[in-house]
Amino acid sequence: MYDHRKLGRELELFDTDPLIGSGLPYWLPAGAVVRHTLEEYIRGVERRAGYRHVYSPVLGKRELYEISGHWSHYRDDMFPPMDLSGERLGGERLGGERLGGERLGGERLGGEQMVLRPSLCPHHALIYRSRAHSYRDLPLRMAELGGMYRSELSGVLGGLTRVRAIQLNDAHIFCAPEQVADEARAALELIREAYGALGVSPARYRLSLPGPGGKYVGDPGMWRRSAALLTEVLDAAGVAYEAVEGEAAFYGPKIDVQIVDSAGREATLSTVQIDFHQPERFDLRYAGPDGAMRRPVMVHRSVIGSVERAVAHLIESHGGAFPPWLAPVQLVALPISDAEVPHALALVRQAADRGLRAEAAGPQRGTLGARVRAARLVPYQAIIGAREAADERVSLRLRDGRRLEARPAAEVLAGIDLLTSAHSTDLWTDPRGQAGGR
Ligand SMILES: [Zn+2]
Repeated sequence: MYDHRKLGRELELFDTDPLIGSGLPYWLPAGAVVRHTLEEYIRGVERRAGYRHVYSPVLGKRELYEISGHWSHYRDDMFPPMDLSGERLGGERLGGERLGGERLGGERLGGEQMVLRPSLCPHHALIYRSRAHSYRDLPLRMAELGGMYRSELSGVLGGLTRVRAIQLNDAHIFCAPEQVADEARAALELIREAYGALGVSPARYRLSLPGPGGKYVGDPGMWRRSAALLTEVLDAAGVAYEAVEGEAAFYGPKIDVQIVDSAGREATLSTVQIDFHQPERFDLRYAGPDGAMRRPVMVHRSVIGSVERAVAHLIESHGGAFPPWLAPVQLVALPISDAEVPHALALVRQAADRGLRAEAAGPQRGTLGARVRAARLVPYQAIIGAREAADERVSLRLRDGRRLEARPAAEVLAGIDLLTSAHSTDLWTDPRGQAGGR
């Protein structure tokens, strides 16, 4: 297996700078393309599955996390709160109004404490609560690819796997108790679909249960109920799993989809969690068919987990040879001599018109062999010599070494477009119906 930190730098996907700080990588253009493409794919999958997307701020008042329970159960993993002193705020004017004067967290008078959020759930609970809901609105699936923060120790930081600023593919499904199992099952199915498109496979499924110690919220009945539901979902999905104590979230048990990194360390990528706690804490309601107010359940789920960890895993499991739809550059046009450079540039333009990411590498970049080697991770290499140029054809060389006979440029682009639009991991499917390999 490859080390994503080494490959990430070689392929110019991301980097870090001590002045920004460890655990705070930045994304270079090629990495940003991968990230953007991945995020758009996930949003598309979620839209089709009935999710609606929101945006919410990465900060909230400390009080919000006192209500959610993060402050008392999760504070060790949070950044220290920021004091907005009454004096400073009093001196500034926001919209002509003076802020401050509010008593927060029982400690500060005249100021506020703001917290970098450790999760998106509290914001989503408030968004749910901001509108009245009836049983007809449920299940209400709220999704966001949003920032959250974790105060990791600097010793464990490195590359994209342990970061302090996390972009999470998150969603919360607010549903009636009898809808929970179906929603959790559907979430697990989304995870399987995404793994198929990404060409990754889980190391194992884990049913994460609470362990001894006081870091979990109360009510044993609630824990039993949630664990029974998740067990039912895992059994119905027909996947092998292990139940592990001590790995639950503080508010509920979860299904964790585990992956293994290049150093052999296991980590959680995707999760499905059942939560009776936060709906209670935030007093979330919906009107039942009889008009009586009822309490929804929250299903927390993440299909690819954090974008950082997902990309790290993709780099390592594919050795930088991303599935064609995700590759930073999908097609490289290689003119054999200067005479075919205009044809190569025209091909790049046609590819771009189709939304494909293409570039040309002309003879000034070395021999054809050297250029093919330099583009070894690019899924499609279109070689254009005098013969091909004469009748608008290209000879396609696939990343796995296969060569296709010269064919019209338009046909080649249509074939690539078909596979990448379908988020296929195949490199080529012959128009006559023969499936290609990776
Ligand atoms: Zn959540």
